[in-house]
Amino acid sequence: MMPHSTTLQARWVFPVARPPIENGLVEIADGRIVSVRSADRFAALPDEIDSLALIPGLVNTHTHLEFSDLRTPLPVHSTFAEWIRLIVGHRRTRGEYPTAAVQDGLRESAASGVTTLGEIATLGWSADCFGSGTPRTIAFREAISLSGQNTELTATINEHLASLREHPSVIGGVSPHAPYSVHPEFFRRLVSLAAEARAPLAVHLAESRDELQLLDSGTGALVDLFSESGFWKPDAIPHGTRPLHYLQMIAELPRAMVIHGNYLSDEECAFLRNRPNLSVVYCPRTHAHFGHEPHPWLKLRAQGIRVALGTDSRASNPDLSLWNELLFLRSKFPQVPPQDLLEMGTRAGAAALGLDHVTGTLTPGLSADVTAIRLADMSRSDPHEALLQPQSRPVATLRGGTWIAGSPDSLADV
Ligand SMILES: [Zn+2]
Repeated sequence: MMPHSTTLQARWVFPVARPPIENGLVEIADGRIVSVRSADRFAALPDEIDSLALIPGLVNTHTHLEFSDLRTPLPVHSTFAEWIRLIVGHRRTRGEYPTAAVQDGLRESAASGVTTLGEIATLGWSADCFGSGTPRTIAFREAISLSGQNTELTATINEHLASLREHPSVIGGVSPHAPYSVHPEFFRRLVSLAAEARAPLAVHLAESRDELQLLDSGTGALVDLFSESGFWKPDAIPHGTRPLHYLQMIAELPRAMVIHGNYLSDEECAFLRNRPNLSVVYCPRTHAHFGHEPHPWLKLRAQGIRVALGTDSRASNPDLSLWNELLFLRSKFPQVPPQDLLEMGTRAGAAALGLDHVTGTLTPGLSADVTAIRLADMSRSDPHEALLQPQSRPVATLRGGTWIAGSPDSLADV
């Protein structure tokens, strides 16, 4: 806990909504940011502050905490469908819903600087693990059903949204899993449900070539897998269906996230232009794990389309660190200005989740969500380059004025 008012100081403060501030102060009271400014006098800073940066709390817009007990990602031997088979098998053998894994995932997220999470909630999920000591979470209740109507699942999702209406740390959302696992008619029902509740929606879309083939012709590795298990309904999805049809269905929602979008066509990218209510979530290391074709994120950004970042789960990523996603992108795309990456991991994520009025920048009035980064190399003159050095690391995380990882002591621990 922290006294109800305090001031944090660092060599660099990155408000994201404004240029970095050298020798900056972030003043906090009652869980909110009061001011962000430079220190009045530029005196020599103690070492532990001289190598410290403060950034807005990181936003991991897409994960599945229930798989946080996996020590290593499930391997991708051949097709996406084969990986789906492994994850279904993992879920079947583990038995009960793994609350301990969710708690591990929350701790890991906080320790890696994340203050806001987009979580996919499946059968057995409970809000009990989430509170003021964890990242704030949007819990997207997942729906999988190839029936045109599913009154039981519709009721479950309505209950999910209603039960979270007053929750201080969790916001309810809706997630039709993917176009290949939800009947188009039921998908439409879920979209209206999200619209009525003004709840955000997340859908895995244009994720794999197997998905595109299933939608287009009702054939391929996913169809084979689903046929084996008896899940597949050959008449559920009309041939010639494309991800574009789902973008059209979600186009009027207040907030919706296209998770992955690895294989969005040029026409689909163009459809997303001038629709700030729709965002694409790129999961860089998960994308690399599957060996997909290059992701269109640079093209999307060049067209002014918001791209936020996610880790996805430990079933396809070695950890849940959004900070590591930023470092990964920095190493793979050195031509992209580091300030763009920081923006994607903070403000863009908050906006994708519909929480830009709450978090994502260090701005007076917003929640005091601050991540302290220990800078590895102070020789860089550009502050954003100094920030995203391979050895720089999150050391403490403040959410709403409460330390959810590390503490003021860890800021002095060099
Ligand atoms: Zn996912």
